Amino acid sequence: MQLIDGKLISEQIKAEIAKEVKLIKEVGGKIPHLAAILVGNDGASETYVAHKVKDCEQVGFTSTLLRFDASITEEMLITEIKKVNANSDIDGLIVQLPIPKHISEAKIIETIDPAKDVDGFHPINMGRMVIGLPSYISATPAGIIELLRRYKIQTAGKNCVVIGRSNIVGKPISNLLAQKSDVGDATVTMCHSRTQNLEEICLRADIIIAALGKPEFVTAAMVKEGAVVIDVGITRLTSDKTKNGFKLVGDVKFNEVAPKCSFITPVPGGVGPMTRVSLLQNTLLSAKKAIYC
Ligand code: NAD
Repeated sequence: MQLIDGKLISEQIKAEIAKEVKLIKEVGGKIPHLAAILVGNDGASETYVAHKVKDCEQVGFTSTLLRFDASITEEMLITEIKKVNANSDIDGLIVQLPIPKHISEAKIIETIDPAKDVDGFHPINMGRMVIGLPSYISATPAGIIELLRRYKIQTAGKNCVVIGRSNIVGKPISNLLAQKSDVGDATVTMCHSRTQNLEEICLRADIIIAALGKPEFVTAAMVKEGAVVIDVGITRLTSDKTKNGFKLVGDVKFNEVAPKCSFITPVPGGVGPMTRVSLLQNTLLSAKKAIYC
């Protein structure tokens, strides 16, 4: 069994990005600039946004954090997004989700200029991805593809089972793995809460991507010998064994599944750090006008 070290790979990618930014600075080019919008003060969202700002600093990007009170109206938030769209210095814009219930998430996502939508959530980017056109690919699926690529894990012709059909993970990763590409050409089965005989389906999988958000759901009985298991799930459980009083648990029962695998990602330290670094990669692509010229 080989552990897929997402932390290590993400550090390597960050170093590659930092090197490129240094070169851009030397020739007086455009320094990538990411703007993040945070509405309200949800604890987890605060942490995620703080990480994103810190990641930008680490690689030499400029970042702007725009904070709004949870009471902001949908109309006002749309106006603020349009201001960022019009600001030519900003290359990438993300709106940290979730947003308060009185604001339509779909409307907010659709207001972001697709050329700055480095989260890859805009329907135009999703649609372009599906038909294989250059697009921003959302951070988690992009991070998973990068891990498979860097660990040289064969996907062509393999049976791949994705558990979960969310717009941010399950649907895009299923689509990407089925595409004709270097990390693709797989035969993909996308499972969800209404899937029957999930255990049987998983037992046929060469690659399992678990993205359902149910701690330790995937057990050894669901995994065949030699399978590759990518654990996307992150659930924060209380723990009396850690200093901060909680621990992060994946969707895979790691201790019993790992011995059966050829490759497996840990939680934490697997997909999570790759998600963070993918956002930086998309922002760099935007600054270089690599997707939308
Ligand atoms: P979601 O909550 O939007 O969707 C969960 C999906 O799982 C649904 O499509 C549902 O049909 C499916 N599902 C639920 N119960 C099931 C069952 N018993 N059998 C089969 N399918 C079932 O999920 P999401 O936003 O994609 O997140 C999934 C998990 O991944 C969460 O734990 C989340 O925190 C984590 N996540 C991690 C990262 C990362 O960077 N590592 C990024 C995004 C999400």
